[in-house]
Parts: sequence; structure tokens; C-alpha cells
Amino acid sequence: MKPKTTTEDLVERIDRLKKERRALILSHNYQDGEIQDVADYVGDSLELSRKALQTDAQTIVFCGVHFMAETAAILNPDKVVLIPDLSAGCSMSDMATVERVRELKAMHPDAVVVCYVNTSAEVKAESDICCTSSNAESVVRSIPTDREIIFIPDQYLGDHVARKTGRKLILFDGYCPTHYRIMASDLKVTRAQHPEAQVITHPECSQEVIQMSDQVLSTSGIRRAVKSSDAREIIVGTETGMLYRLQKDNPDKEIVAACQWCDCAHMKVNTLEKVLWSLEDMQVVVTVPEAIRRKAQKAVERMVAISP
Ligand code: 13P
Ligand code: SF4
Repeated sequence: MKPKTTTEDLVERIDRLKKERRALILSHNYQDGEIQDVADYVGDSLELSRKALQTDAQTIVFCGVHFMAETAAILNPDKVVLIPDLSAGCSMSDMATVERVRELKAMHPDAVVVCYVNTSAEVKAESDICCTSSNAESVVRSIPTDREIIFIPDQYLGDHVARKTGRKLILFDGYCPTHYRIMASDLKVTRAQHPEAQVITHPECSQEVIQMSDQVLSTSGIRRAVKSSDAREIIVGTETGMLYRLQKDNPDKEIVAACQWCDCAHMKVNTLEKVLWSLEDMQVVVTVPEAIRRKAQKAVERMVAISP
């Protein structure tokens, strides 16, 4: 009988192959703990885009969802970008089809189009500037006040940014089904159980949840805020993969999930085995047709210029 492969074996083989291939492993904050532990860098969408741009490594294994790996491929046409499982999509990104974005543009032909990074390369190519949850406010503020703005696809992030900046945004009707599961009514109950707790949520949460929060931050923003907080108990409203690192980095604090059913199935299709197979087979390579890539690159680079 074939001996069972242990996690230690997998980690050892990944480390060995990573050196041989001179590859960099990037992991989003929502990946399973064992993937985060094997990665060279763990971060939010913006940090991972920056890392992909800065690295000398010729191969990047992107442990996250497709739009994230695709953004790395848009910025790095000379590097090989691998994703452990090509089926790791994003429900919100899928809502913003190119056809629907073009319809909205046709209705507002003079508007500046801001696309959240959670979009396909085709939609980025239709947009003027990209943003992530950590820089959406600065991106919107950078646009002259006499210009109309279309914000794609997250209506909740868009609404949050509109309130923060005082700008009127034309919102697409997309949302994240994972974050939508965090109900204001559940959060009320959790807050009543932990009356001293600080509440930190992600801007993909619904308006009601955002309004009940002390802070609204990107995934890495949440990591930094929890670390520097004086509170002993912190209620966190985002995908449950975040809890692994938050609890590991803050053993003296109680981290309470605002919702225990907030798993992103797309994020969880990546596994440690698939990270190894990805390096063994140099699969699955994420590519973007050159004409689309060049247009999408402009939108992403404009964003990077605003928040270097
Ligand atoms: P961050 O940019 O905050 O990491 O968020 C990405 C995402 O998809 C959250 O659902
Ligand atoms: Fe997309 Fe939501 Fe999953 Fe983030 S949590 S990758 S927005 S489906």
C-alpha cells in the first residue's frame, strides 16, 4: 500500500520545488492556514498585486481566486503566473459581465469608470481606473469633482466610498454572497454577547452591517487593526479564513466571527496538494490576451500610481 502523504511531506516537497523553480508563493488572507504557512507572502488584494510587481521571481504561484492571479498576469506579462485550481472564481466578479458594463457606460458616456479589482481582465479593460478595498476612497478622491463616476461591481463598497467621500457614484448592482451572509440581526446578537468588543468589518458587507461597525477595512487592514487594538475582544465581519491568522497573531485576544457560515467556496478550492501539483506540473498558467491585457494594465497601473 502507498504510504500516506503527511502535511509535513507536502510542505517539504513544496519548499524544495519552490527553490528549484525559483518561484514565489503568494497567498490571500482568506486561504486555509496551511497554505498561508507555506506562502512567502500573505496579504490583501493590493499588497499581493504589489508583491507580484516587485518580485524578481519568474514564477508566481498565486493562492487566491482567479481575478487576483489574473491581475498579477496583467502586470507581469514576462512572468509565469500559476493558480493551483482554475475553478477558483469569484461570484461578485462574475456578476459584472462586459455586456452589462458596456450598457452602463452607454447610459453615462462621459463618466469615469472605476472598477473594483474583483473583476475580469475584460471588465478592467473597459475601465479607466481600478481600485481595491484598501484604496477605493483615494481612487475616487483622485477624480475631478465635475466628473460623473461609475463604480463596478460592488454596490456596498461603492456606497461606503460614496458616504466617505461625499461623491455621488453610479453603482452597479453586484455584491459578494459570502459577505452578504453577515446579517445585521446576527451582529446585534453577537454584540450583545460581547458588549465590550470592538467591531471591525470588510467593506463588502451590507450597509446595515457597515453602519454598526467601529472600523471598516480591507483584509490586511483588519489584520493591522486587530494587532494594534487595545480591545480584548474583537468581532470580525469577513470571510472565516481570516480568523486563522488573527488568532495566531493575537493569542491574548478573543477574536469572534460575526458570522460562522461566511466561507468563500471559491477560495477554499485551493489545497496544499494542489499547490504542490501546480509547482510540479507548472500548471495552471493564467494568461490574458495581449490586446485586453494592455488596456487592463492601464487601469491597474493608474491605481498603483495613486497608492504606490
Ligand atoms: P481584500 O482586498 O480586502 O483582500 O478583499 C478581497 C476580497 O475578495 C474580499 O472578499
Ligand atoms: Fe469574491 Fe466574495 Fe469570495 Fe471575495 S469572498 S473572492 S468577493 S465571492
